[in-house]
Amino acid sequence: MPDKLEGVFGGTFDPIHYGHLRSALELVERLQLERVRLMPNARPPHRAAPFCSARRRADMVELAVRDEPHLCCDTRELDREGPSYMIDSLQDLHCELGAETALCMVMGCDAVRGISGWHRWQELLDWAHIVILARPGWALPESGEVADWLQQHRFSERGDLRAIGAGGIVIESLRPLEISSTDIRTQLSAGRSARYLLPQSVLAYIDEHSLYRGGVA
Ligand code: ATP
Repeated sequence: MPDKLEGVFGGTFDPIHYGHLRSALELVERLQLERVRLMPNARPPHRAAPFCSARRRADMVELAVRDEPHLCCDTRELDREGPSYMIDSLQDLHCELGAETALCMVMGCDAVRGISGWHRWQELLDWAHIVILARPGWALPESGEVADWLQQHRFSERGDLRAIGAGGIVIESLRPLEISSTDIRTQLSAGRSARYLLPQSVLAYIDEHSLYRGGVA
């Protein structure tokens, strides 16, 4: 039985915002996680190329979590060649942390809709539990192979996450925050303010490096 639970929250974070940060912190408290690792991808295989470089996106994650001991930025996908596959990161973390730490891969329900396109998606549960976050405006699939997979692996109690090291799915409704990186980029590229949607330190970095004002950084 694992002693500890750690969250792994992968994303593009282009840029990171309070929807990510507040969800991560609320999960720490709700599931009594040791921490949540925010893990920016380097070369996301399932979506258009990010606007900012991986280094810039990781810098913004680092700035955002700097003062919160339960959140950290995990840059392992920046150090790896090739596409950023979550399965590789989970295997890597499992080796690093050992069997006494169970991993909880965190994802919003919008991301779950595309999960069957992920590399070796059905093996994700061999290495981690999956925690799905409800997100305003998005619903989980109700039919098809992903819906069947969710139903097959869903745990009825979040306490079950501590009973075994991997393999369960829980769905958590946290404080709904209708914030997205797309909307923040849209506001910034139109010359409008994105203040209060993301940390001031991240906004200062965006200003300093003139990000999202038109070109790719
Ligand atoms: P974009 O608008 O560029 O697609 P995003 O805001 O969805 O970006 P991502 O970096 O793509 O952010 O998301 C990383 C993870 O965070 C995904 O699993 C996504 O579902 C989740 N997420 C993003 N925003 C929120 C939010 N406001 N509440 C809960 N989960 C979120």
